[in-house]
Amino acid sequence: MISIESAAYAAYIVAALLFILALAGLSKHETAKAGNTFGIAGMTVALVATVVLAVDHGVSGFGLILLAGFMLVGALIGLQRASVVQMTGMPELIALLHSFVGLAAVLVGWNGYLHVEHIDGAEARALGEQGMLGIHSAEVFIGLFIGAVTFTGSVVAYLKLSAKMKASPLMLPGKNFLNLAALVAFVTLTVWFVIEPQLWLLAAVTILALGVGWHLVASIGGGDMPVVVSMLNSYSGWAAAASGFLLANDLLIVTGALVGSSGAYLSYIMCKAMNRSFISVIAGGFGLVTGPDDEADYGEHRETNVETVAEMLSTADSVVITPGYGMAVAQAQHGVAELTRKLRERGVDVRFGIHPVAGRLPGHMNVLLAEAKVPYDIVLEMDEINDDLANTSVVLVIGANDTVNPAAAEDPASPIAGMPVLAVWEAGNVIVFKRSMASGYAGVQNPLFFRDNTQMLFGDAKTRIDEIVGALAGARV
Ligand code: NDP
Repeated sequence: MISIESAAYAAYIVAALLFILALAGLSKHETAKAGNTFGIAGMTVALVATVVLAVDHGVSGFGLILLAGFMLVGALIGLQRASVVQMTGMPELIALLHSFVGLAAVLVGWNGYLHVEHIDGAEARALGEQGMLGIHSAEVFIGLFIGAVTFTGSVVAYLKLSAKMKASPLMLPGKNFLNLAALVAFVTLTVWFVIEPQLWLLAAVTILALGVGWHLVASIGGGDMPVVVSMLNSYSGWAAAASGFLLANDLLIVTGALVGSSGAYLSYIMCKAMNRSFISVIAGGFGLVTGPDDEADYGEHRETNVETVAEMLSTADSVVITPGYGMAVAQAQHGVAELTRKLRERGVDVRFGIHPVAGRLPGHMNVLLAEAKVPYDIVLEMDEINDDLANTSVVLVIGANDTVNPAAAEDPASPIAGMPVLAVWEAGNVIVFKRSMASGYAGVQNPLFFRDNTQMLFGDAKTRIDEIVGALAGARV
């Protein structure tokens, strides 16, 4: 007869396998839906097994009510948030969810310490005699540190992504020294705590880690936020794994390690794509010495209007559209698809150039264009289109800013220097659709707007695109 405990552990292995299948599925468009289903199934199995295990271990009736109550409230809040969140708000929701993982790891760490403090003398002695107390203390300390860094780091990421805090990097004097000093303090406190666990040491490392998390993410500029989100994803995985060690829960260790390593790998890939140093980003912009330069005088910009743009488009040989976050905000993708169709009917060669971090999610623009039924074969990646831009008659920059900023390629002092961008300024004419001269997400001024071949078409992108489509319908060509 199989005991309930063995059955629950077997279910944990099934859940772990389902999580691995989920990750594998999510790595390709075609299998992403199946991957999601595997993930949901894995989480359901894991939750049921955990509750069954708790009952088997004799949890009190009150404990069970608490467990059921919190699960219900959490599930309802999660369902509500997920159903109302806009695509553009997804990264900030993810950042907020990472902060919960961090907070949970902090609470588990504190509980781990207080539990040992309160167990009876015999049990504590047994732990001590087995040499387990030192390991337990190290687990508490390290788990708490990672959890607290993840917590405040994710809160700052949430604030920056939701524009409740300035996206530009915080440049405290001697910030690299501060980070190094915090690391040395952490190692020293850990050794001390392992030798002699004391409450004040735990309080000290909690405060230190909360400060480190805040500083690390506050120091990273807006342009690097996509990497920060995946990096915090990784940290939250390690925080969960550390909690798994403390709670002696194998599934939490496996799941945490899966999230931690896949998040780290994604951060590494994104750093390579954006020409950023991985170490610099995970160390809170370590080595970064530049600040945003909004003082520079780039001269005057030129404005245009709907009729002129419609005329220019109808006589163009080739058009490249580079969409960005503003297209998502304006929900202009359907109008853009209609404009594309109209121009192609007139024999204009229309293609799209997609920057890897355009919008607020990896693949954000591809999803919107697919939703509006723009044919896949004219939607090209940045590397595929960049060399052709010099031979393009007109580029339409629709709500994009940082991803088309020449300063990244030409100004070594720019905060976004070195980030690969779409070289739209090389085209014959550039029309920029946006509502004002405001900077993009990274908070950096864009010299593109002041170039001789650039004209600004101010207003909401959807309204302007629809007007151009209307003007084209009326035009004789
Ligand atoms: P940006 O965020 O740089 O700029 C978007 C522009 O859209 C703004 O300048 C804004 O100007 C304009 N805009 C906003 N609303 C409208 C509207 N209704 N109609 C017309 N224009 C509008 O966009 P990019 O896509 O070029 O760059 C993405 C940035 O986001 C990068 O810095 C990237 O690093 C960062 N990021 C990307 C993530 C990802 O995974 N893709 C995740 C997190 C951050 P105005 O206000 O004047 O209209």
